[in-house]
Amino acid sequence: MPLEIVRNDITKMSVDAIVNAANESLLGGGGVDGAIHRAAGSGLLKECKTLGGCKTGKAKITGGYSLPAKYVIHTVGPIYQDGKHGEQALLESCYRESLSLASANGCRSVAFPLISSGVYGYPKDQALRVAINVISDFLLENEMKVYIVIFDKASYKIGEKLFADIAEYIDDNYVEAHFDFRFESVRMSMPCGHKSSNSGRSVFETRSLSESVERDSLGEKLKQLDESFSQMLLRKIDEKGITDAQCYKKANIDRKLFSKIRGDIHYKPSKPTVIAFAVALELSLAETEELLKKAGFALSHSNKFDIIIEYFIVRGNYNVFEINEALFAFDQCLLGA
Ligand code: ADP
Repeated sequence: MPLEIVRNDITKMSVDAIVNAANESLLGGGGVDGAIHRAAGSGLLKECKTLGGCKTGKAKITGGYSLPAKYVIHTVGPIYQDGKHGEQALLESCYRESLSLASANGCRSVAFPLISSGVYGYPKDQALRVAINVISDFLLENEMKVYIVIFDKASYKIGEKLFADIAEYIDDNYVEAHFDFRFESVRMSMPCGHKSSNSGRSVFETRSLSESVERDSLGEKLKQLDESFSQMLLRKIDEKGITDAQCYKKANIDRKLFSKIRGDIHYKPSKPTVIAFAVALELSLAETEELLKKAGFALSHSNKFDIIIEYFIVRGNYNVFEINEALFAFDQCLLGA
């Protein structure tokens, strides 16, 4: 997944560059700046002293010293006043300048804290939105792995109204221990990642259909296999008139994974991967169900992940990053992971 939101201490990230939310002096401060200087050791401050400070919205690069990261990119976020003093443009500039500096220095992976969202007072949900928008725009044109590092759960919140809306939708639709027998012989809908290790199949699988198929007609049936997941995906991409790259980037899916799917008509993707493509292709709920079925999955009201996905699809909101924010807020695994 080219953009990932993770919960971590940024000083522990093993990436090519971490970004520091610095102040204009570049001589260290509190918050994430202090944590980075402490973890990097005194060599970092020594180098920072040679840089002559940095203007708000700009970025400068140094070595990473004792950090796992090779570089530190220091950027200075705006102090938030009321949102009417050019704060957003300056914050966007921080992300853009840092990404272009990372790119110019050959970085393939970069981790950002939520710049300006601490002492500088930028509302966290808006700060996150800015980060996601600028980074996802950049990733449409560039190959890089970018992390937004959230320090603690409390520092992360999607808009309160959205959170309340989704919580209500889950309450209305959640069915405990609900089993959906609409699709016989179809993998039961599972929380993501719960696959057996070698076959990519779920541990739950009903067998009634396969048992009822007469043995001598099985060969015939197998010859008439339906369109596979990979075939349906490629067909939908053509029908939508978009390129492969537009599709996998919008799905926040890695190019290598997409090539694997393209090259293997029997490829068995994970459930979040299927849904990420459904979202990128802006499929209706019925089409999403069909694509899921091709990969042996179904949407169910017995898990929150599915209900959150349904919430966005029925509202025609196909922004994979917004969906991932909501999934993150509800402790679910993310699309494209
Ligand atoms: P600013 O002055 O730009 O607001 P802060 O350092 O005060 O910078 O906070 C920026 C964000 O970094 C805040 O959301 C804060 O919770 C977060 N943060 C603080 N320490 C760390 C850390 N070690 N790793 C990742 N994020 C951190």
